[in-house]
Amino acid sequence: MKILVANLGSTSFKYRLFDMGGAGEALLAEGGFERVTEYTPCIEEMLGRLADDGHLVNDEDLDAVGFKTVLGKDLSGCVEADARVLEALDGFKEVAPAHNPAYAEGIRCFERRLPKARRVALFETAFFQWVAPAASHYAIPKAWRDLGIRRYGFHGASHKFVAERTAELLGREDVATRARRLYVDGPGEFDGAPLRLVSCHLGGSSSVTGIRDGVAIGSSMGFSPQSGLPQNNRVGDLDSMAVPYACKMLGIDVEEAERQLNKESGLLGLSGVSNDARDIREAATAGNADAALAIDHLIDSIRHWAGSFVFKMGGLEAISFTAGIGENSPQLRSRVCAGLEDLGVIIDPAKNDACRGTEAEISAADSRVKVHVIPANEELVIAREVERFLQAN
Ligand code: AMP
Repeated sequence: MKILVANLGSTSFKYRLFDMGGAGEALLAEGGFERVTEYTPCIEEMLGRLADDGHLVNDEDLDAVGFKTVLGKDLSGCVEADARVLEALDGFKEVAPAHNPAYAEGIRCFERRLPKARRVALFETAFFQWVAPAASHYAIPKAWRDLGIRRYGFHGASHKFVAERTAELLGREDVATRARRLYVDGPGEFDGAPLRLVSCHLGGSSSVTGIRDGVAIGSSMGFSPQSGLPQNNRVGDLDSMAVPYACKMLGIDVEEAERQLNKESGLLGLSGVSNDARDIREAATAGNADAALAIDHLIDSIRHWAGSFVFKMGGLEAISFTAGIGENSPQLRSRVCAGLEDLGVIIDPAKNDACRGTEAEISAADSRVKVHVIPANEELVIAREVERFLQAN
């Protein structure tokens, strides 16, 4: 069964083509485009490449396209990417302006271009559907709550992959199976030994999630992919009173405030240097105090959220790092885990320094808590769910 996973980022388009089922899970092709402003030409070019390589010669060669849709109004889970999904994306386009219109364009483009391939959406919020109401609500008036304003959580496919893979690496097949089958079976009851994991997805966009026995208990991200940790150029957590105050004092309207918080804030806003962690680290090393502050703030935010989840889960067995910064920055990983010896966390400096972009355990042999680096593989999670969806529907 050939499944194409389309990852339409705010400025990029990445794809992976899988052959699922039968002999197993084979990655047939992958590729991507950067600095994307229109998705349709990229999709056309990708289809051309896949045809040239003999992967998609006829329209019938493709069984389905899977979409990593972000935030749907009144809709989540793994569903047919039909008019209902387009409506749900449209309903929250103001909340995820960099993502929802991109997916709507992508879904429409594939509908026109490959009408015979099924289109299936796996929402990034799906992994957080079992978070307790106490952790997913804001203390706001009912009329606001009725608009759907609450904590959702994002990077669901990435954190789910980390949950599965961490459990596998720890030899906990019971938890790995529970996490893998979560969208089919639901969480059900679990009576095995606890596996309390803090999953750190740290990249252009970042979030921390507490995962108990394969099921998310919360996310640093909230109503939009804007909140939680500082993002590359998006603000992260901010006191709500800051917005009306800044509007009044700077003489700007709410749209301009939103633009500045979306485009000129986060690591870029604080460092004044760049939205890329590599540039910021270089500037900090050269003595730029604002760049050093941006890195310190990112680390403090990661520890703030990680600490919150450890407290809520009542303990900790594992920490895992994923995505561009999490996979490639030993300095950041060691600073996130510093001083936690009394919690059972001890990093092995040599293993940590040696690990860049590859899967590895980086905790010391005598560390009670196991720390891993796990390269992100959101596309595989989506391909597996799409395959299951097609078999069930
Ligand atoms: P992602 O969104 O997962 O593709 O991650 C992108 C981010 O990873 C970039 O903004 C970089 O800041 C960061 N990154 C990539 N390579 C490195 C590296 N070697 N050291 C630190 N950060 C890195």
